[in-house]
Order: sequence, then C-alpha cells, then structure tokens
Amino acid sequence: MNFSFEVKKSAGARRARLTTPHGVVETPAFLPVGTAASVKALTQEALEELGAEIILANTYHLYLRPGHELIRNLGGLHRFMAWPRAILTDSGGYQVFSLSELRKVTDQGVRFRSHLDGSEHLLTPEKAAEVQLALGSDIAMVLDECIETPAPRDAAEAAVKRTTEWARRARKYFLDCASRNGDLAQWQFGIVQGATFANLRRESARQLLELDFPGYAVGGLAVGEPHAITCEMTAEVTALLPPERPRYLMGVGRPEQLADYVSLGIDMMDCVLPTRAARHACLYTSEGRVLIRNARYAQDQRPVDPACSCTVCRRYSRAYLRHLFAAGEITAAILATHHNVHFYLDIMRQIREAIEFGNLAKFSSAMHARYAAGPS
Ligand SMILES: [Zn+2]
Repeated sequence: MNFSFEVKKSAGARRARLTTPHGVVETPAFLPVGTAASVKALTQEALEELGAEIILANTYHLYLRPGHELIRNLGGLHRFMAWPRAILTDSGGYQVFSLSELRKVTDQGVRFRSHLDGSEHLLTPEKAAEVQLALGSDIAMVLDECIETPAPRDAAEAAVKRTTEWARRARKYFLDCASRNGDLAQWQFGIVQGATFANLRRESARQLLELDFPGYAVGGLAVGEPHAITCEMTAEVTALLPPERPRYLMGVGRPEQLADYVSLGIDMMDCVLPTRAARHACLYTSEGRVLIRNARYAQDQRPVDPACSCTVCRRYSRAYLRHLFAAGEITAAILATHHNVHFYLDIMRQIREAIEFGNLAKFSSAMHARYAAGPS
C-alpha cells in the first residue's frame, strides 16, 4: 500500500507528511474544493502552479453527473480530470442532506431525489463506498448522518448512533472488497459526529476508533455555531484520536481561523470559501478582506494584495479587477479565484513554517488582528 502518514513535529499543532499513490501532501494542508471534478474557475494547470497537492471532489455531484461508472470506465477520476495529484472524495451525504429534495433517512440509508432531474436514488453506506472506489480517490469518506443545527440532544444522539452503524457497514464493505481484490489504493476515513455536545463527540470518536480507520474526520461543525464552540468540539475529538493517524476537519474555514484548527491538532481542512467568495468579488489578503466591487478601488492601481506573490497580484491592478467584475467578465472569477486559492495555500505554507519554528501562536494572533481590523 502506497500510503503513509509521518508526523515530523507534534506539540498540539502537527507538522506531518501524508504519502498517497498520487504524491506527497505536506500537512497541515488545505484542500481546494473541486465539486464536479473542477475547482471552479481554475484549470488543473493553474492548481499545479499554485502548489495544491490535494483537492476535494464531491461524490454526490459526480455520482449524478457524469456517473461513477462512466468515470471508472474512463480510468478513474485522476485520469478523467487530468489531475495527477491526490484527491479526497466526500461520501455524498452532506450534499444529499443540503441539496437534494424529498430525502428520507432510514437505517438502510438516505433516499433522495436528484436536484438535477428529480430522479430517485438510494445512498447507503455501501453505495457511498462503492461509488468512491469507482472514482478511485486516494481518500474516501464514510457516509454519515448530517443533521440540522442547532440540534436537540436526542436528535444528535440518534445521529451518532446511526453514523457509527453506517461507518461499521462502510468499513466492512471496504475491507471485503480489499480481501477480494487486493490493494484498493484508497484510504477510508471515519467521521466523528455529535453536534455541539462534548460527551457525544467523545462517544462518537470512541466508537469509530474501534473500527480502526487509517484516518479520522471531524464533521458537522462550522455550520453556524460560534467559532469558540467549533474549536471546543474539535479539541474534544482530537484529544482522543491516535496521534499517528491524520485528522481532517471538514468544511472549514475563514483565513484567520485555519491556524486555530491546526493548533488543535488538525492536519487537513477544506472549504468552498476561497473559491466561492472570489466569484462574489471578495478577495482575501494579508490585510483583511477586499471587497473589490467597492467604488474606492475604481482608480486604485495597487495589486489586490501588495504582499502577495501570486501571478494576479504581480500583474493586475485593483482597478482592473473591479472593472472586470463590473463588466461581468469571466476573467474576473478566474483572477479572483487564482488569488484567493494562492492566499489560502500560502497561509498553509506559513503555518507549516511556523510549526517548525515554534511560533504558530504568534502567527495566529497576527492573522486575527489583521482580520478584525476589516478591509483596507
Ligand atoms: Zn495575489
């Protein structure tokens, strides 16, 4: 198996190296989100140039269109999308719960209607594992039950119970496939749930640890609760997870929060924020957010972020970017996304360096101070 996770430095925050069949991922790492096998507005060439070592793709979207069978027939997701580096796929559960219509959750799985054409589907733990094996992602996630927040305690407790049972079935399906077919060239991660209840989070983690996943994710957080609660719940979980295995906090976060999660022992994070915000003319910079549509940038000849070394900041002015957004030019999304993804990946480079030099807390408080000050 071409997988390993080597922790090089660990003092709360961890500096590690994740080796996959599609290359090495230096961690802590941020995963740009490539929903439908595409990080919106970026080519794979651009992602490589930006230094992305791993991206996330959404199982729900690829299962519905173009279909996992087609992707398997074309040689798997890496070949299909011409991305040679690592890919993590989610289970599809989160999108089923947030996008699809008429979903019905039973112990068997989630029955839902496609948001594309209304067709009916059943996503089970086994099916989610099967689809991700067909896609051939390096890291696959088990199906978990996502509940609406804030959740009452009994609903959160029931979701933890179901999540564990589904994880058991997904693990069994995966290991049965592996014993039939040999090395599957994929790592399957469990997902800890438990909403904002510390004891449920701990219980969920303990139950999943028994299933012996090679890595663990923390799910169902950063969905509207205060940042302090997100951190508190994350800390409850990471305290119980085995130090030699990777930890992935799903769906975070804002630029100034990334170091907070890393300091709690998180190795991987993903979020649509840098790409989605870019398309809405919100640029993240070393001095805070720049809302580039603002009239004050109409004649501003400075780059988006004078401290940024990305190809956009080296070449284009704020005035030009503002004009592109005002004119509805496609290039606006391309340039803004390029900068924002560069900014996020650069934060991660700085975080990794700060861990090595032992000054992550200083880096983190400086980021928070800059972002508290608001846009320049
Ligand atoms: Zn830039």
